Amino acid sequence: MRLLTLAAAAVLFIPALTAATLQAQTPQPTPETGNEPHWDYLGKYGPLNWGKLDPAWRACSKGKEQSPIDIRHAHLNKALQPIKFHYMAGPVTIVNNGHTIQVNVQPGSYILAGGVRYDLVQFHFHHPSEEAVKGKLSDMVVHFVHRSADGKLAVIAVLLNEDRGDPNAVLATLWNHLPTAAGQTEKITDLIDPGGLLPPDHGYWTYMGSLTTPPCTEGVHWFVFEQSMSISRAQLRTFAELYRINSRPLQDPHGRKIEANE
Ligand SMILES: [Zn+2]
Repeated sequence: MRLLTLAAAAVLFIPALTAATLQAQTPQPTPETGNEPHWDYLGKYGPLNWGKLDPAWRACSKGKEQSPIDIRHAHLNKALQPIKFHYMAGPVTIVNNGHTIQVNVQPGSYILAGGVRYDLVQFHFHHPSEEAVKGKLSDMVVHFVHRSADGKLAVIAVLLNEDRGDPNAVLATLWNHLPTAAGQTEKITDLIDPGGLLPPDHGYWTYMGSLTTPPCTEGVHWFVFEQSMSISRAQLRTFAELYRINSRPLQDPHGRKIEANE
């Protein structure tokens, strides 16, 4: 079901993102004390007001290609290539940045998507999942944030569900070192393999979207895996105790095309 042509991927235009934009996606440990205005997932500083909190965050309210979206009516495109993963295990830094738990990886892990190399920068979690599939949210989602040499972003989303209840081994190690206070950081010397959070089947839905946190910059190449991963009830509960809700609501797709590779 997978043909090897670059044509479909090559026509996808992804504007370059600046280093400053990536920095916003990977906030400093204590954003409240940094230059970034305060933002949150609920209330006055919540998602409905992000676009008003800073002129640079205008895309959050005015953008036409925002994320997350409800994945439905996907078109099969057999010309889309499979993503090639070159993830490696290594020590990581785990950060509670006040918005999520983020795992910063060392250089060396990357993917090839549409013939472009994107280096893995960090991965982080949302509860519940931000993206829906035919209207249904998952318990959690992990976002793997990658950046190409010329500043383009590609995010891979893996949905996490506790329906089967098996603990995930990578989460087990990470959660042993979970920084519980905002601004807290811990180095983990145990080797963490990000690939341990990927499902066996790499079939994906893909669409053009944005960062799901301020400044909501567009031009992000999204890949949402069709197969979800299982986590245990205890693993879900541990995260939910820290972040009851850290998900941006679904955004208007504005007629965007969603494609499936298989
Ligand atoms: Zn995210």
